Amino acid sequence: MTIQNPSRCSSPRRLIGVLAGLSLLPLVGCDAPESQQARGEDVGTTAPGFEEFAATVFQEPESGAYIVDGDVALESREQLREFYERYVLQGALIVHRVGSADARWDDTQKVNLTYCVSTAFGSRYGTVVQAMADAARAWERAARVDFIHVSSQDSACNASNGNVVFDVNPVNVNGQYLARAFFPNYARSGRNVLIDSSAFSVSPPTTLTGILRHELGHTIGFRHEHTRPESGACFEDNSWRPLTPYDSASVMHYPQCNGTNSWALELTQRDKDGARLLYGTPIRCTQPVTYHNGSQLSAQYDGANCYIKPIPAGASAFVQNNNYYIQSRPGTYCPQGSFDGANCYVMPKPARGFILGNSFYKAYDACSSGGNDGANCYLLSAPAGTQAFEYGGNFYHSRAPSGPACPVAGTWFDGSNCYVMSKPAGGFIYGNNFYKAYDACSSGSNDGANCHLLSAAWGTRAFENAGNFYTTAVPSCQEGSYDGANCYIMRAPAGTSAFISGGAFYYAD
Ligand SMILES: [Zn+2]
Repeated sequence: MTIQNPSRCSSPRRLIGVLAGLSLLPLVGCDAPESQQARGEDVGTTAPGFEEFAATVFQEPESGAYIVDGDVALESREQLREFYERYVLQGALIVHRVGSADARWDDTQKVNLTYCVSTAFGSRYGTVVQAMADAARAWERAARVDFIHVSSQDSACNASNGNVVFDVNPVNVNGQYLARAFFPNYARSGRNVLIDSSAFSVSPPTTLTGILRHELGHTIGFRHEHTRPESGACFEDNSWRPLTPYDSASVMHYPQCNGTNSWALELTQRDKDGARLLYGTPIRCTQPVTYHNGSQLSAQYDGANCYIKPIPAGASAFVQNNNYYIQSRPGTYCPQGSFDGANCYVMPKPARGFILGNSFYKAYDACSSGGNDGANCYLLSAPAGTQAFEYGGNFYHSRAPSGPACPVAGTWFDGSNCYVMSKPAGGFIYGNNFYKAYDACSSGSNDGANCHLLSAAWGTRAFENAGNFYTTAVPSCQEGSYDGANCYIMRAPAGTSAFISGGAFYYAD
């Protein structure tokens, strides 16, 4: 049994690496003769010598790792020789085998597959974080595995970081592969998911998330499905154990190796079944629901879906854009004023009262002369050396000791003092200044033009009726918060589907 000679099947040798090319040339895949592709067994006599074999293996310029089976990295030439001796000289959803044992994570490790995403991705960092999370989620939903992004390690995310199980790093191999991964039996230094720049410019249906779904399949032990003899192409070796019947549509099957899947690289039912056989039933419903007040609610797996909580008695619930709502009840609550059976009575409409922009106002004309000093209307100061006084309903100030007899423009000498003006209503003298009091905005606040009395509460409308000011009442919410139309309860986790069934709120995970 042998690894496929690259000269016989060049495309699958680069596996994921040829994704972009294949999107341009969809019919180009294994170009090997049918007879050679289908052999699988008994090709030992045609196996190349180690040096000849090694010369065909792509070596990453940065790490020096040898890339076999398209996107599987071997750290050293010694490992490459072992690989050659074990697989090339000898010799889906299938699990990788090391000797006679499955290469898989144990029950403790499988739910703690921690990883970092290197900040060396730069402007692509956020894209990689999201694609990794989405790809991990696909496997987490299928089987009891849990990939955990440890973002605190992202700034020191390299192959020697022992605080994570594996690292996710950029690499520059000029499209030799789009991404590559590792198997669970690898040492920490070899446990990397490396992503080439070319993986960021793939065309639909290929996505970075799809590529990473395939790569994360390797990280939990899954081999290329097309190495199974049923594919009739792209044989790699026989170091695997079948978990399910052959699946030509598997996420682990290269489309160009007689696959029936698309480059979207989605998990098939058999992928999910195989993963569950190896790792057990998935941990479900781990994502919290965000309640309307910002708190987090947990959900429980009921055997099929994630149960959150019951719908309030009598409420009419619905889902919109993955948010849960109930319909509000007609309001009797008055944030301002008192409920009169239909609306909220606020106050009698004051003289020159009006409504503008859902607020109540009254106009004022105080300080139509003089300036509003925040308390009174300032009119005029008596000149230095003179005394302001009031006499006979008029304002005066005493004569100046020298200079013009009455220095303030508009005043005149009446034979003994300077006449200033007739005392206005509310006029008074304070600190040698003339004032008049005003009572505009004696309720409400002066907004520079009018006296603002009150703004109608959010969700209510101000109106006037029969000389009184009113607002509409606020509809009430048995649960949740009123959004102006309905009662918003909570939001389902990203990537899940909110639904309502049997009087309760659920999401499908
Ligand atoms: Zn692969």
